[in-house]
Amino acid sequence: PPAQADKPLPSLDASQRIAADHEGGPALVEAGPGTGKTRTLIGRIERLLETGVDPRSILALTFSNKAAREIKERIARTIPSANELWAGTFHAFGLELLRKHAALAGLQEPVRIVDPADALERLESLLPSLDLHYYLRLSDPLALMQPILGAISRAKDELCTPEQYAALAEQMQAHAVTDEAREAAAKAAEVARVYGRYEAMLREQGGVDFGDLIWRTITLLEQNDDLLAMIRAQFPHVLVDEYQDVNRASSRLLKLIAGDGRNLWVVGDVRQSIYRFRGASPANMRLFAQDFPGAVVLPLKFNYRSGQQIVDTYTAFARSLDDPVWRAAGQLEAIRGSGIRPKLVIAPTLDAEVAAIAHAIEAHRADGIPFRDQAIVVRTHTHAERVAERLQALGVPSMYLGDIFERDEVRNLLAVVSFVAEPSRGALLRLAITQSYRMGLADVRSFLELAHAADRSPLASLSDPAVIAACAAPARAALERLRDDLAGLRFESTVAEVLNHVLFERRALIDEFLEQPGSGGEQRRLAIFQLLQFAAEHFDPRKGNPKKNLLRWIRRLEQFGEERALRELPAAAASIDAVRLMTVHASKGLEFPVVFVPYLATRHFPQSNRGKLCPPPEGMLRAEDIHDQFEEESLFYVALSRARDHLHLSRSEVLGSQKASESKFLPSIVARLELVRVPNTELLLAGDDLPARPELKLEPEIHDARDLDQYERCPRKYAYAKSLGLRASRDDDGYVLFHRAVYAVLSWVLQE
Ligand code: ATP
Ligand code: MG
Repeated sequence: PPAQADKPLPSLDASQRIAADHEGGPALVEAGPGTGKTRTLIGRIERLLETGVDPRSILALTFSNKAAREIKERIARTIPSANELWAGTFHAFGLELLRKHAALAGLQEPVRIVDPADALERLESLLPSLDLHYYLRLSDPLALMQPILGAISRAKDELCTPEQYAALAEQMQAHAVTDEAREAAAKAAEVARVYGRYEAMLREQGGVDFGDLIWRTITLLEQNDDLLAMIRAQFPHVLVDEYQDVNRASSRLLKLIAGDGRNLWVVGDVRQSIYRFRGASPANMRLFAQDFPGAVVLPLKFNYRSGQQIVDTYTAFARSLDDPVWRAAGQLEAIRGSGIRPKLVIAPTLDAEVAAIAHAIEAHRADGIPFRDQAIVVRTHTHAERVAERLQALGVPSMYLGDIFERDEVRNLLAVVSFVAEPSRGALLRLAITQSYRMGLADVRSFLELAHAADRSPLASLSDPAVIAACAAPARAALERLRDDLAGLRFESTVAEVLNHVLFERRALIDEFLEQPGSGGEQRRLAIFQLLQFAAEHFDPRKGNPKKNLLRWIRRLEQFGEERALRELPAAAASIDAVRLMTVHASKGLEFPVVFVPYLATRHFPQSNRGKLCPPPEGMLRAEDIHDQFEEESLFYVALSRARDHLHLSRSEVLGSQKASESKFLPSIVARLELVRVPNTELLLAGDDLPARPELKLEPEIHDARDLDQYERCPRKYAYAKSLGLRASRDDDGYVLFHRAVYAVLSWVLQE
């Protein structure tokens, strides 16, 4: 067979080649956006493999599974043995070690991961028994679990135990002079208490959460010299992408694995440090030479991603900032030439702003850039939802890549599944307080206590007249309705039965979400659809055992924890031609021919009040890392630097009912932008200048007409598709692409 290695490797320029070829000692490749850091990392791996290095001795650590997959795929194209190299996230690496050495790490086998959505459910189940004085004054007790969980996971990033957390809270209390400081100390003490309970529960149930994947691995390696020596011997080549996002925990793990760092080779850009809220510290970048003696810092010279005018725009922004790190931003030369001048659209309202975006999207599409190559990058999930809603109304298909497993409707659906499989307190709590049942926390608590006293599971207690009779009247009615809605489901039910039940027989369980008007409801339906699609992708009844026990299904879902946390489309959906809508955080490392950055108004970008609900206790973070503004600045810098050809910034003059002034990030770059004022929406849409939607083409791999016919002939599937708001008409290309996937999912759910 022809030697694959004969194929020419992707070319590197001189500075990239020097970096990729570096030998003898730790190296940090530090360079700006789009300079080919990731590409150089890939080039180095290829070079190592070419020179005969065993792929199994290479460890490439990234911050997302997607990045790791890309590295592997790109190398596999030229070097087939590449799939033997280890490329993955720090978390995945930790998980693998913990799985292999579970006993040594003091973990039960098989190691169970508790992912964020799951952890939330567990915290919720503790809620009735937690006495949260400060936090429970908030109206929605479930809404505070997310920030508390966030605070706990930040503590884990800092390797701060519940006891240490409590000690910090005590110190805060001792030094508090104002009411505000006393309240902050009291809140920190409550978080410390929840943290302690949460840890105890994890230990009891034998699960590990994401934070533990790193922390437990550190402990494992620190306490087992032989294992550590073995790991070091196994991976003489350690590479890290996006080094600026290393936090205290991952940095400690890296130091363990890389030892003196002789074969450590990392790339990063300190100005793109956008995970400071997770403890990422640009200090790690600065301390690289100190941490690894003999380290060299290597630069890259050119920008390959964007036109010069885009590069100059974000460089001007960087240099306008106060911090010396920003001021030192170098002037990069864009290989691709001057390119197109970035635009700033100023619109009277958000409707008009999004209409202008829709208009530009259609225009680019008419020029041959498909929807999927255009991205809208926003600061927050709320922004994404608002933009999605309006795009929807304008008929522009968009995919919003939020984490479906953190969405309410999906968690409700899974709560039913897990309640049936493992009738837990948390699952019941979540169900009982939804709008369909509207039970109060106190009622749920007393029901659970009654069930406990009667020595019955919550599910069984629902049909126990004695338990129900003992509840207060309004709660009784709600519990009876819940019992009726769950009637017919048993512990032994299959996944398909439960989904069928929830989606067809007893819609009450999720109606609250499906019935919501407008595109909020649309997004929710889409999320449920994505869940089904995810399920179908991982549990194909034709390949495996069609009657899967529920509990096993949930366990399997848990194993995809890593994947769940990754805000990414399922593979099958990646080919869907829809505009990519994502947060800046999710856009890291990515590039698109066309990028829109909307909502550039005060209070929206930058955000000013992040993390107020559960701020980290004083003393946990290094003083130099407490600098929220730097992170907001980095986020803007990252957003601007994702564009290859077209960068469209925009803002509205009125948001909500208030006048909105421009983001304070704009003045430093406005001179470089082409200003466009758009009139209000009606005028824009009334014109016939919106291009006519092209004829729908059916792409054979994505769907074919026969499937569609079949689907239309099947009344149950059709009914479901209609309830999802999916119209099966052929002239609607926004939705038609989903039909085939829906069809596949439904075939699976309905087993027909
Ligand atoms: P970020 O800071 O956003 O992570 P990066 O520095 O990792 O960016 P890459 O994503 O590796 O940059 O590269 C940016 C783009 O430039 C990619 O499309 C890449 O293929 C291209 N590129 C990089 N180096 C070269 C080169 N020597 N020749 C041609 N194209 C290149
Ligand atoms: Mg990169």
